[in-house]
Amino acid sequence: MGRVEELLSSLSKYAHLVGTINVEWVRRVEEVQEEVIEDVGGRALAYESLKDFVNALEAEGYIARAVERASRALGEEVEDYNEALRAALTGNLEVKGARVALIVLQAIARAYAEKILERGVRVEPSALCPLCGALSETMYKEGGAYYMVCHFCSYTWLVSEGKPMCPYCGNQDELSIAVVSDKQMRVVLMKCWNCDLTWRTIMDETIKTPLVLKPLIAMAAEKLRPALEEIERLVGTRGKGS
Ligand SMILES: [Zn+2]
Ligand SMILES: [Zn+2]
Repeated sequence: MGRVEELLSSLSKYAHLVGTINVEWVRRVEEVQEEVIEDVGGRALAYESLKDFVNALEAEGYIARAVERASRALGEEVEDYNEALRAALTGNLEVKGARVALIVLQAIARAYAEKILERGVRVEPSALCPLCGALSETMYKEGGAYYMVCHFCSYTWLVSEGKPMCPYCGNQDELSIAVVSDKQMRVVLMKCWNCDLTWRTIMDETIKTPLVLKPLIAMAAEKLRPALEEIERLVGTRGKGS
C-alpha cells in the first residue's frame, strides 16, 4: 500500500477517535509530502543533522522548487518565497505562503526521520524530539514499552519500558502519574503530579497507524480533560501548581 492510501485507510478506520477532519485536504498534503519524501529521502543520511540537510537542499534550490510545486498542488499562493520560508521556520503562519513552506519543510523532516529510524530506535527519556526539537505531547504503547512520537517530523523514540515515565521530568512513580481513561483504555490522558504537565497516550496496542497519524488519534484523549480536572478537584492536586 502506498503512503497516501495507508494514511487514508487508517483515518477512516479510526474516524471514531479522530473526529471531524478535512480528508480531502489531508490527502492533498500527504500527496505533496510523499513527493518530497521520495525526492530527498535517499540522500538524508549523508548529513549529520536535519539542519544540515535542510541547508543543503535550500542552497541547491530544491526547497524553492518544491514550494512552488506544492503551492500549485494545494492552491495556496506564495508571494515571496524567501519571506514565506523565513516565516515557516519561525512558526509565523500569518505570512502568505508560510503554510506551504512549512508543509515542504515538514516533508523533508519526515524523510530525514524515516531514514534515521531505519538505524533503530533511540532511547530518550524526553518530550523533545531529538531530531527537530519540537515538543511532543503524544505517547503510545507498543510491546509493553512507551514511545513518544514527534508532531512535526514523526520521528519516534523510546521513553520507558514496563511502565510509563513522565517525558517532561523523568518521574516514574506510578502513584504520582494520573491515568485518566475511557472504559476501553484505548486512548488516555496522563498527568504527572510531580511537574504538573499532561500528555496523551495511545494505550491500545491494536491501534496500528502510520506514525504521522498518532498525534491526531491521541487527541481523542482531550475529551477526558474535564474528568481529569474533576478528579483533581475532588482529591486535591499534589503538584506544585496546587
Ligand atoms: Zn521531530
Ligand atoms: Zn513530570
